[in-house]
Amino acid sequence: MVSRVIPVDPFDLVIFGGTGDLARRKILPGLFRRFCAGQMPEEAQIIGAARSEMDDDGYRQLVRDAIEEFGDKPVPEGGALDAFLARLGYVQVDATGTDGWEELSRRITEDRVRAFYFSVGPSLFGDLAERLHQYGMASGQSRIVVEKPFGHDLGTAKALNAVLAQHFDETQIYRIDHYLGKETVQNLMAVRFGNVLFEPLWNALYVDHIQVTVAETVGVGGRGGYYDKSGAMRDMVQNHLMQLLCLIAMEPPAKFEPDSVRDEKLKVIRALEPVEPHHIVRGQYDATEKEPGYREDVEDPKSRTESFLAMKVHISNWRWAGTPFYLRTGKRLRARTSEIAVVFKDAPHSIFGAEAGRHRNVLIIRLQPNEGMTLDVTIKEPGPGGMRLVDVPLDMTFADALGPDADEVPDAYERLIMDVIRGNQTLFMRGDEVEAAWAWTDPIIAGWAARNDVPKTYDAGSAGPEDSLMLMHRDGRKWREIKA
Ligand code: NAD
Repeated sequence: MVSRVIPVDPFDLVIFGGTGDLARRKILPGLFRRFCAGQMPEEAQIIGAARSEMDDDGYRQLVRDAIEEFGDKPVPEGGALDAFLARLGYVQVDATGTDGWEELSRRITEDRVRAFYFSVGPSLFGDLAERLHQYGMASGQSRIVVEKPFGHDLGTAKALNAVLAQHFDETQIYRIDHYLGKETVQNLMAVRFGNVLFEPLWNALYVDHIQVTVAETVGVGGRGGYYDKSGAMRDMVQNHLMQLLCLIAMEPPAKFEPDSVRDEKLKVIRALEPVEPHHIVRGQYDATEKEPGYREDVEDPKSRTESFLAMKVHISNWRWAGTPFYLRTGKRLRARTSEIAVVFKDAPHSIFGAEAGRHRNVLIIRLQPNEGMTLDVTIKEPGPGGMRLVDVPLDMTFADALGPDADEVPDAYERLIMDVIRGNQTLFMRGDEVEAAWAWTDPIIAGWAARNDVPKTYDAGSAGPEDSLMLMHRDGRKWREIKA
């Protein structure tokens, strides 16, 4: 299999917050990988813009250090890094003042795509949008990329949408959810809509339930202050898990085009039923001998914010009525793993009798680690002694299927930034999608506050609170094991 790299047109990319954690960890190493892959044209220009005082050379050194520290591979020899750094510049700007803006506008190239990545806190989005307009940089060829969190609730998300809409058209706004940039997540659409095999079965008639798990082993240490104001619902479910849910549940769009895809996703969110309180389990990880618990991590002994959430969700439409979606995410769990499992119903009649046991087809889409797909198929257990059945996996990992090309698969940020340059919004959230997601989320969170709901504690390194297991057991179902 040969991977194809299609170079993009020359562009200017300004990274506001270009000295920050996200820029150094993800954005700049990602851009370097695209450069090495030959996707970035000679004339491309990348400008870091942030509060720190620094000149171009100082910024190049910062980026060199970041790529050496956070790049996933050793820097290739032969001067590639120097050639990449030569495309970089830096302007010191104050998002809330006037410093640096004239200088930035002078550095921008006329008549080409210009992308402005808002890698700063959301409180600065409005200021940045306004100044880009004021200093003449918001042309028809301009795009802005905004990071999560997009709002804290429906009200703040609407306010953010409104402030951006004052200066930019919806077609110029790229709301990033890096989950949508993952190779496997896009593969979900290819599997569903590129094969005849699955789609006829992809509905409540044949699917018993769907499980989505996004488990992390890390706690919130280091960003406890931010996290405690959000919790798993705002930090993970409202955005990442919701996007996965949409791609699993949506109707086939007429075309693989931004608004066709996003229209279908929006319909899913709007069809979500309110969640019954007893269909939600919230948790907080406990301390171990070596590591602090959630409440110590956020330095609030009375915190009621959840670091774990499991919930049963229903989608009220013809395709999914009666098929539950179980969502689960949490910190300090047994393993770092993200997967979607589509559990099909039992065969309507077992010709092999009750003693053959219960066997089900399960399609597992692994987002990490070991990206790939597995389909559990029931076969005869080999050997003599009658007809005994056994479930075996048809297993496909990207690394095996793509061979050496698997290394060249761009990571989520790389792909999404290149999509911005190309002007393809398919993998970005539209304003109405984000608002619909908050409209569903807000009453759930308000319900916890009204009931003084206290999260259950769970052991670090476990699969979450016992009650989350019961959520499935009560329905005669079982979570898949959380394992690396
Ligand atoms: P950070 O605090 O490390 O960096 C913030 C950057 O913004 C710095 O470069 C700083 O100079 C700049 N800045 C702050 N105030 C400014 C001002 N008034 N004018 C100009 N520049 C200013 O933050 P981060 O972790 O890089 O996060 C940036 C954004 O990305 C946030 O919205 C965050 O929620 C989001 N995000 C971060 C991560 C991550 O892994 N770090 C992941 C997802 C989303």
